[in-house]
Amino acid sequence: MTAVPSTPDVTRDVAPVLPVLSVVVPVYNEEDVLPLFAQRLRPVLDALGEPYEVVCVDDGSRDASPVILQRERRTWPQLRVVRLRANAGHQAAISAGLARARGAWVATLDADLQDPPEVLPDMLGAARAERVDVVYGVRNDRSTDSAFKRLTARMYYRVMRRLLGGHVPDDAGDFRLMSRATVDAVNALPEHNRVLRLVVPALGFPDAKVGYRREERAAGKTKYPLSRMIRLSVDSLTGFSVAPLRLATWFGLGGALVTGLFLAGAVVAYLSGHVIPGWTSIAVVVAGVGAVQLLCLGMLGEYVGRLYTQMQGRPAYYVAHDSLDAAPGGPEPAPAGRAGTPTLAR
Ligand code: UDP
Ligand code: MG
Repeated sequence: MTAVPSTPDVTRDVAPVLPVLSVVVPVYNEEDVLPLFAQRLRPVLDALGEPYEVVCVDDGSRDASPVILQRERRTWPQLRVVRLRANAGHQAAISAGLARARGAWVATLDADLQDPPEVLPDMLGAARAERVDVVYGVRNDRSTDSAFKRLTARMYYRVMRRLLGGHVPDDAGDFRLMSRATVDAVNALPEHNRVLRLVVPALGFPDAKVGYRREERAAGKTKYPLSRMIRLSVDSLTGFSVAPLRLATWFGLGGALVTGLFLAGAVVAYLSGHVIPGWTSIAVVVAGVGAVQLLCLGMLGEYVGRLYTQMQGRPAYYVAHDSLDAAPGGPEPAPAGRAGTPTLAR
């Protein structure tokens, strides 16, 4: 019996066209804004005239976002959806997208249209013209943000720049373009609770900036309540600086000095026959010292917590599904430990 020659699988013989640009978009409960988002992003990317992919990372949305993304995919082949099993947070969602993006350039962009997609071609142009690896989108107009957000943002960038040195670009959020080399370097970091807006400048790749006007959220509500803003600030501080640990030492020294002065005063008063009356001063000192001790303990706890999560080595996110793996022609040969398996990134 002669063997029937198997039909050659042409889809596998043709080398996949790798995108020049990947756009990573974290998406969490964005059903209101996603159709608008696709409507605005697609023409901009189609007009580039270069192969691209949009990697929407669905960060465990519980609304209709996954359904809308699947619907968009039917008419937009460049749209790829990576679904995370559970909500992992903005930074982890971007990290998941960076780990899976295939482009020679990778941009990160929020889904709520606060970062205008029309700026992307300018970023790519700037990266190529100035031969740099990173182009930051810098908000040169934040008038659409609330006064509270503007104030806290200004404080955040000021403190970070002071602690980390001059290389934190002001008002650069997570709207940026990175070269493949930069993305590989970010992906290789073993760090948990990554704050990308600090991690990327710290890598020291040559950079440029493109200014843009931060627009109002096109629809839906912010997913960054105060508690998440505080979390981001604490992660930024403890992830990049041990200054708060030293603060405890300075508080301790200051406390010792004040105690010494009190003691000297008490001795002088005793010798001169005046007994110090009242308990108020004692109560204040006790309460003050207690508060400082708790504060220092809390700060220490933050670092111990970081060490603990790092040691556990649990992934920062779990990928449930990547539409690319289900695409005709099969998945890309997955880099070891990536496809469907957790990645140690956040
Ligand atoms: N986001 C996410 N996971 C979260 C919270 C937010 O992927 O747990 C996404 C969200 O869908 C949006 C982006 O991160 O695309 C920025 O969030 P948001 O616009 O709510 O933050 P803000 O601009 O208000 O700081
Ligand atoms: Mg937003």
